Amino acid sequence: MSNDILDFDRQHIWHPYTSTTNPLPVREVVSAHGVRLKLKGGRELVDGMSSWWAAIHGYNHPVLNAAVTDQLSRMAHVMFGGLTHEPAVELCRLLVNMTPEPLTKVFLADSGSVAVEVAIKMAFQFWICRGYPQKNRLLTIRGGYHGDTFAAMSVCDPVNGMHERFQNVLPGHHFVSRPRSRFAGEWDEDDMVPMRQTLERHHREIAAVILEPVVQGAGGMHFYHPMYVRRVRELCDEFDVLFIADEIATGFGRTGRLFACEHAGVAPDIMCLGKALTGGYMTLAAVLATDRVAKGVCEGEPGVFMHGPTFMGNPLACSVARASLGLLAQGDWVAQVSRIGALLQEGLDPCRKLTYTIDVRVLGAIGVVELREPVRMAEIQTAFVEQGVWVRPFGRLVYVMPPYIMEDQDLAFLTKSLVKVVAEHFR
Ligand SMILES: *Cc1c(COP(=O)(O)O)cnc(C)c1O
Repeated sequence: MSNDILDFDRQHIWHPYTSTTNPLPVREVVSAHGVRLKLKGGRELVDGMSSWWAAIHGYNHPVLNAAVTDQLSRMAHVMFGGLTHEPAVELCRLLVNMTPEPLTKVFLADSGSVAVEVAIKMAFQFWICRGYPQKNRLLTIRGGYHGDTFAAMSVCDPVNGMHERFQNVLPGHHFVSRPRSRFAGEWDEDDMVPMRQTLERHHREIAAVILEPVVQGAGGMHFYHPMYVRRVRELCDEFDVLFIADEIATGFGRTGRLFACEHAGVAPDIMCLGKALTGGYMTLAAVLATDRVAKGVCEGEPGVFMHGPTFMGNPLACSVARASLGLLAQGDWVAQVSRIGALLQEGLDPCRKLTYTIDVRVLGAIGVVELREPVRMAEIQTAFVEQGVWVRPFGRLVYVMPPYIMEDQDLAFLTKSLVKVVAEHFR
């Protein structure tokens, strides 16, 4: 029996980072509930990915569903220019309250990449308005990932950041090596040397330091020492450079703190949020800024921040984001994340014994197995599906970040399956 859906998909549709002429196989999902994805044909998969960090409360959640349908019965969308609405206001109120104190102004954006664009534009406009237009470079650490649009691409890792082919069309920013001190290891003050030297030499042309605090996500899943974030904050103050924290992956509890900056006890000047913001229901992101940044941006010519997407503040997305933050506020995530972390530690431990494993690391509800060689994608994906789990590796990294609601039994099944599939893949 021919499958029209998969045939059409194969012939006409691009998936993330794939070819349309030689596509990898995809599976058809018909529904999802709790921590399970249901495929066409009836097979169920325990979801280890939370749809790329987003579905923290699981799928088809009654509270989140209600938030969407209630709002839908009022209005699906209305322009945000000259108009406002309760879902946006109540969402922003929650964001201002839950993020570090100096962050008081919110810009709602469409996706994580756009939030990064907005943050970078804010930083540039801040310096232009203050009379320092020459401060138009960024400084970041290698191994980062900030999205797929052009400004975001320009601060991704220049070699492994998925965009190296575009180097000649991207603005040249400053990169320094990423910190070597690991999250729970000893802090080595020498980690600061490259960043300090670059700031000493180039601070007059640097608008902002941008980085993912503590956890570098799609650039390599590194967990580094929070002291680095604290020192970066200090250096930014010393050299009069803004500090942008990209918390798009780390925000909303994933690392064991509500925001990864909290591990370091610092607040950025600008913070990007996305991914889990709507509990995985819809695309929405937010950029938070301090009074100082907002004032700087709005004081000079032209007196306004030059950005305004058509679907800014979409009420459906704001409504479900507000409901998702409401679920977080009940506080169960603290225990859930630490329980998941402990079970990932235990469940992934057997991977350490495999000869082709370089490292196994866990932080919060994130588990990573780093291998010596890249996996054969089509093959390992099939093996995971046959095993009954949804795990999507990239390159040499097999990793999971399950929905916070995943129960012990499912977690044990997920880690056991992961160990088995990886062991057989490299046999
Ligand atoms: C995913 C991600 C982005 C990009 O978000 P999109 O919604 O995919 O555009 C940016 N920064 C970080 C740290 C991310 O993990």
